Amino acid sequence: MQYFNIAIDGPAGAGKSTIAKAAAARLGFIYVDTGAMYRAMALFALEKGIPPEDEEGIRKACCQADITIAYEDGKQQILLNGKNVSGQIRTEQVGNMTSKISVYLPVRKKMTELQQKLAANANVIMDGRDIGTFVLPNAQVKIYLTADTRIRAERRMKELEEKGQICNLDEIEADIKERDYRDMHREHSPLKQAEDAVYLDTSRMNPEQVVEQIIAIARKQGLSNGGKENSDTL
Ligand code: C5P
Repeated sequence: MQYFNIAIDGPAGAGKSTIAKAAAARLGFIYVDTGAMYRAMALFALEKGIPPEDEEGIRKACCQADITIAYEDGKQQILLNGKNVSGQIRTEQVGNMTSKISVYLPVRKKMTELQQKLAANANVIMDGRDIGTFVLPNAQVKIYLTADTRIRAERRMKELEEKGQICNLDEIEADIKERDYRDMHREHSPLKQAEDAVYLDTSRMNPEQVVEQIIAIARKQGLSNGGKENSDTL
C-alpha cells in the first residue's frame, strides 16, 4: 500500500510542530517530530559529557543510543535506551547541542533510517529540516514553513515561559539565528526549501489558517480517503 506523506521543513520556531500536530489530528495521520529524535541523541551526548566537537565520540555514541518513538494517546513519546525522555529534550541547552551534533553523517544516517521506516508504514506528517529534500523526496506534499526571526523568537519565548523557564527575547533570537545558520550551512542535508515545496510565511497567519492551507494542498495532491477528515466531511 502506498501511504500519503506530508513533509514540513523550516527554521526553528516557524510553528512546524504546532501546525503538523493539528493537521495530523484533522487528517488522522501520524505526526512524526524528527527534531525530537535528534534532540534525544544530543541529550545522550550531554549526559555522557561528550563535547560537540568530538566527532569520533559522537559517532561511537550513535551505536550506544537506542532511540525509538512510541505513541501515548496519539502523542509522540521519545525513548532513549528504553527511558522516556520527552520531558527533558525541550531546553535551549539541548536545542543548541542538537544543531551542533546534527552536522555529523552517522547521526543523520541513524535518524533518516528510522524516519523512512515510519513513513513507509503509515500516513505521516513529518517535520524537520531535511524531510522534503532528503528523507522523503517522494512525499506527496512538501511545505517550507517560515516566519520573521523576531516573531519566531517571540513564539519560542512564549512556549518556554509556559513551561516555567525564564528567558530573554534577544538571547532567544540570537540563539535561533545561530541555530538556523548552522542548520542551513552544514555539509550534509542542510535546511533549504525543496524545489517542489510550497513556501508558507506564517508571520501574519494564525495556526488554523496554515492548517487549512496545508489540507487544501494535500487534497489538490490527491488525498482522498486517506485521512479521517475526508471520509467525515467530503
Ligand atoms: O525542530 P527542533 O528545533 O526540535 O530541532 C532541533 C535541531 O535538530 C535543529 O536545529 C536541527 O539542527 C536538528 N534537526 C535536523 N534535522 C531534522 C530535524 C532536526 O538536523 N530533520
